[in-house]
Amino acid sequence: MEQILDIDVAVLGGGLAGHCAALAAAERGASVLLLEKCAEPGGSTVTSAGSFALAGTDLQAAVGVQDSPQQLAEELMRVSGGHAEPALVQTYVEEQAETYEWLKRQGVLFHKISLSSSTNVPRTHPTNSRQLIAALHEQVRKQPLIRYLPNTRATRLEFGGDGRVQGVHLQSGENEYEARVRGGVVIATGGFSRSPELIRKFAPELINAPAWGGAGNEGDGLKMAWALGADVADMGFVNATFGVAINHYPDTEARADDELLLRMAMYRGGIAVNLEARRFADESQSYKKLATACLAQPRGIAFQIFDQAIMDQSVPNPSVNDLQGAFDKGVIKRADSWGELARQLGIDGPTLEGTVERYNGFVAAGQDLEFGRQTLGGGFGKPVALGTAPFYALPCSAAVLSTYAGVRVSPSTQVQNVFGDAIEGLYAAGEVVGGFHGAGYMSGSSLGKAAIFGRIAGRQAASRAAARTDSAT
Ligand SMILES: Cc1cc2nc3c(=O)[nH]c(=O)nc-3n(C[C@H](O)[C@H](O)[C@H](O)COP(=O)(O)OP(=O)(O)OC[C@H]3O[C@@H](n4cnc5c(N)ncnc54)[C@H](O)[C@@H]3O)c2cc1C
Repeated sequence: MEQILDIDVAVLGGGLAGHCAALAAAERGASVLLLEKCAEPGGSTVTSAGSFALAGTDLQAAVGVQDSPQQLAEELMRVSGGHAEPALVQTYVEEQAETYEWLKRQGVLFHKISLSSSTNVPRTHPTNSRQLIAALHEQVRKQPLIRYLPNTRATRLEFGGDGRVQGVHLQSGENEYEARVRGGVVIATGGFSRSPELIRKFAPELINAPAWGGAGNEGDGLKMAWALGADVADMGFVNATFGVAINHYPDTEARADDELLLRMAMYRGGIAVNLEARRFADESQSYKKLATACLAQPRGIAFQIFDQAIMDQSVPNPSVNDLQGAFDKGVIKRADSWGELARQLGIDGPTLEGTVERYNGFVAAGQDLEFGRQTLGGGFGKPVALGTAPFYALPCSAAVLSTYAGVRVSPSTQVQNVFGDAIEGLYAAGEVVGGFHGAGYMSGSSLGKAAIFGRIAGRQAASRAAARTDSAT
């Protein structure tokens, strides 16, 4: 084992939380090592739809949306089924406005806001996720206090005799190193969607569901923290996400070069039907709940059905609303009649016609007698009838994209052990953290959480380094 350097802060993982933590620590004058296991930075962040859940912004005001941090806090608690830690939620809403401005100062571009799942007012603030990471990574590259190491995996935390985390073991190719830290280690290794071992342990019902998310998201940070006695939260709430396109339908096999296309026509007014051409759920529900319903359908396959009026609302960002893009890639099918659309999908035409007719009748009557749909999504907007030809269908399924469960932290991001005590020198932020989303998930709140708590973790670890340096002199 060769010691490579003494530094103030080590940040494990080069996704959104890791970039924000590294930059925030360096802003406080700390020397930082930012490690990324893969060749490229970005993790799940770069594959994401790029939406941030924020409240009371200029972009909301520009389209006349009234919202406030307190309303956001209430919604986050409601969506979590009451399982979120109120102190974490409170910290999120107190810090979100400042973090939004900070991200813009780093060069991140926010686009026009739109409605997504589980938000009672439009508050998902879209970015382009590639631009998001590119902008932050450029800042990292320009910051002389940050040393960025790609293709370098953190393997173990070093716990000292004084009861604090004092270093991290690294592996790069055949070489192993140890980095010693004065301030602390920030775990920002993302979720564990790519770990069959951990999915089997916590969500065995999802073991056969397709897995997406960052290629390196295998739960490494979670395991390293466990090894030191870290407590965990929300492990029982790991769920899949509805709306992942089946790119080559009717061939349902994924191909190695497949692009992940997550699309949500249902929150614009589309309906979802199964292979029997029948609806199976209230489509306004969270895409997490729709995922469970979808996986219970024949072969776990569904079709998002919509019309030209919905296609006309397609926008490139957030990508979940980029229906035109998915059509251009040949993934969304189009036909001039419901019968022809059904033929392309290999489902029964008269049944699909009947399903749409019945649904349109419910919309006209203002009452969905089948599944009780009352809104477009998350309590916002009114359902619309489907009748403007041509008609469209997106063959899709549910996949494990994100896990949203993991180590328990205090609002200042210190990792807690199973007895509720802080593990000195150990911080965590982003998807590796549990206790924030609870049993549900508000769209945009994971990127928001990664940025907000990533910055807090970086600041905390840097302050600790400064305090230790002061006391040593
Ligand atoms: C398709 C998709 C769409 C999504 N859309 C949205 C959305 O619109 N809004 C939203 O809020 N959320 C969304 N999410 C979820 C969101 O993208 C993630 O929860 C969030 O990006 C997590 O950020 P992070 O920094 O914690 O982790 P990541 O961005 O995943 O970064 C973690 C990094 O750590 C690295 N790493 C792992 N282990 C190690 C190790 N041992 N050593 C060094 N590095 C390591 C990984 O390689 C990875 O680069 C989406 C997710 C997916 C997959």
